[in-house]
Amino acid sequence: MRAKKVDANKTAGARAYFAQQREVGERDLILSAPPSITLGSGTATQPAAPATDWRETLRGEEAAPSDATRVTRSRAPSRAVVPESELHAPRLAPSAAPSAPRPAPSTQKRAWHADLTLEQIPAGLTVGSASHDMFEGSREGFASLHELERAVASCKRCVLYRGAKNPVPGEGDPNADLMCVGEAPGATEDELGRPFVGQAGKLLTQILAAIDLPREKVYICNVLKHRPPNNRNPLPDEVTACHPYLVRQVELIRPKVILALGTFAAQTLLDTKTSMGKLREAIHHYHGIPCVVTYHPAALLRNPSWKRPTWEDVQLARRLLDHNIVPARQRGA
Ligand code: URA
Repeated sequence: MRAKKVDANKTAGARAYFAQQREVGERDLILSAPPSITLGSGTATQPAAPATDWRETLRGEEAAPSDATRVTRSRAPSRAVVPESELHAPRLAPSAAPSAPRPAPSTQKRAWHADLTLEQIPAGLTVGSASHDMFEGSREGFASLHELERAVASCKRCVLYRGAKNPVPGEGDPNADLMCVGEAPGATEDELGRPFVGQAGKLLTQILAAIDLPREKVYICNVLKHRPPNNRNPLPDEVTACHPYLVRQVELIRPKVILALGTFAAQTLLDTKTSMGKLREAIHHYHGIPCVVTYHPAALLRNPSWKRPTWEDVQLARRLLDHNIVPARQRGA
């Protein structure tokens, strides 16, 4: 009986704590693994949100950037930019008058980059130069994404086309600010000829929505444009054969940020064997375009504890987009 009462007190305390955190605009995230909060001598946990609905989870915890900090995301060069300092300033609820009691300090882990300005975030690998040379003219001669898609549809540069049902060149907004690059089409993608439309794709769509990017506003593609048999790992000669398509997609779309999904895409784009653990937590550059590396959504389905770091990584991508870091080549460097 007494134990029950103590538990009820702890639960009430935890509720009050989280209510207070929300009140001051705490935006840190609680994903499927709920945090343990030390309250007095005991601990209380918040009920876990359904792991499948990222948008709900993130919005529910006010983890995503607030409307007040959002900027117009047009491609116009003169768009408004919210200063980095404001982007991460806590929002005070109207009720939080100066005399209001100070909230308890957050025990939730903050994103690894939350206390760093974008300039302070370690610079990672640089592939290609930031100048125009790579992006002028097309080695492959594709003047548009449409032309490129037609070429992929009849591509015989490697043997993968033989076993594939459909080519999967990529899809999305040709003017996308964010370009997501995965590994290779899986069974559902092969069936439908579209990238990331299986279970992993659904999760990717939710992750993008959580940083306020409808899937249609993003360009999504893979390193390989045809499915490897039985989802085996892509072979080096297949990657080499397909690489010009990816480069040309980057050239044509000119995204502001590239999000590399998973070890394979990251290592291919960045031409490295460095591990995922090391590739995360830095801003790389792919021909002048900032490149953020994160876990593959399929890996998150197997290992939900990677959702938290993935959320942190996509928040970094969001920061880069919001901060309008213009690639050097677009500045005329
Ligand atoms: N995994 C990938 O890397 N790409 C897809 O399109 C689907 C799953």
